[in-house]
Formats: sequence, structure tokens, C-alpha cells
Amino acid sequence: MNNPQLRVLISDVEIQKRVVEIGAQITRDYKEGDLVLVGILKGAFIFVADLARAIHRPVRMDFIGISSYGKGKTTSGEVKVTKDLDASIEGSNIIIVEDIVDTGVTLSYLIGLLHNRKPRSIRIAALLDKPERRLRPVQVGYTGFTIQDEFVVGYGLDFAEEYRGLKDICVLSEGDAG
Ligand code: 5GP
Repeated sequence: MNNPQLRVLISDVEIQKRVVEIGAQITRDYKEGDLVLVGILKGAFIFVADLARAIHRPVRMDFIGISSYGKGKTTSGEVKVTKDLDASIEGSNIIIVEDIVDTGVTLSYLIGLLHNRKPRSIRIAALLDKPERRLRPVQVGYTGFTIQDEFVVGYGLDFAEEYRGLKDICVLSEGDAG
């Protein structure tokens, strides 16, 4: 990318406030039964870490690696599991924790895959949602922020493996050369 430019879209403070609200909602919604957060690698790792600490009840964590995007910014339409869960989810309440729902291709594939493993329930928590780009319908139980169709990085989200460590969520665009 030529001369990449970053513009803060959602600040660190706004993110933390919203994550605390979602954690409180999840705490209210799951009064009993075991609860597993299934984080989608790599983008959701920071959201999972913050969300787990905002949920005030016992929670287990597992991670699944899925790749649906290549190194660029456009979807390849292909979904493949690059790292499977470590433990069985049979009979458990699970919340799939995703960084961003875009076309919905990744999540609809993952829901099908995990549904076959007979969890007690499945819900989705997505920090960001870009509903304009949806190709497959997905029901998101907990949404952090709804955003427009812009490419964002930070708070776990990357562009070609860069920018994951930014505290804010920023729009990445190509600046004018020179
Ligand atoms: P979907 O299958 O819903 O189209 O794609 C979801 C995945 O695409 C996300 O988990 C994320 O990895 C990637 N993605 C979609 N939009 C963005 C974006 O604006 N920024 C980044 N960094 N990744 C995105």
C-alpha cells in the first residue's frame, strides 16, 4: 500500500466502555451452565482478553483459527480451519467471539461446523459489524459497534499482519503519494 494513513474511528476509551457493557450483559444472560468463549484467531485475541475480564462468572476460553482473507483487503471467499479447538464443546454454552462481521461467510461456516459438535447453545459476540457488506445472514447476539464499509485496523485487526497492537480502531486508507 502506498503511503498508508490511519484515522481513529473508535477510541480506546470508547472500546473499553463498550466491552464492559457487553461483559455485564453476558454475565446477566448466562446465570448458570458452563460458558466457553470461542475466539477466532487472530483478530479477536484482544477482544477475547478484555471481554473475559468483563464477564463476572466462570468462563472457559478456547480458540479456533480460520482464514478467509489472504494478505490483502478483499475476501477470497474461501474459509479454512488453520487451528481447531482444543476441547470438546458438547453440552456447553458457547459464545463465538469475532473481531468483525463483514460478508458473514466466515461466521456462517463456523456456526455450521460448531453446531455439528452439539453445544447446548451458540451465540455470537462481534466487536464490529459492517452490515452493508453482508452476503450470508448471521444473527449477532452482542455487537460492539456498527460501522460503515471502511477497512479498519487496530485492537487485534491487521492489514498484512501489521497494526494489530494499536489501542484504537482506525480506518486504513491509501494516502496521496508525495
Ligand atoms: P467475513 O467472512 O464476515 O467477510 O469476514 C470476516 C473476517 O474478515 C474478519 O474476521 C476479518 O478477519 C476480516 N475483515 C473484514 N473486514 C475487515 C476490516 O475492515 N479490517 C480487517 N483488518 N479485517 C477485516
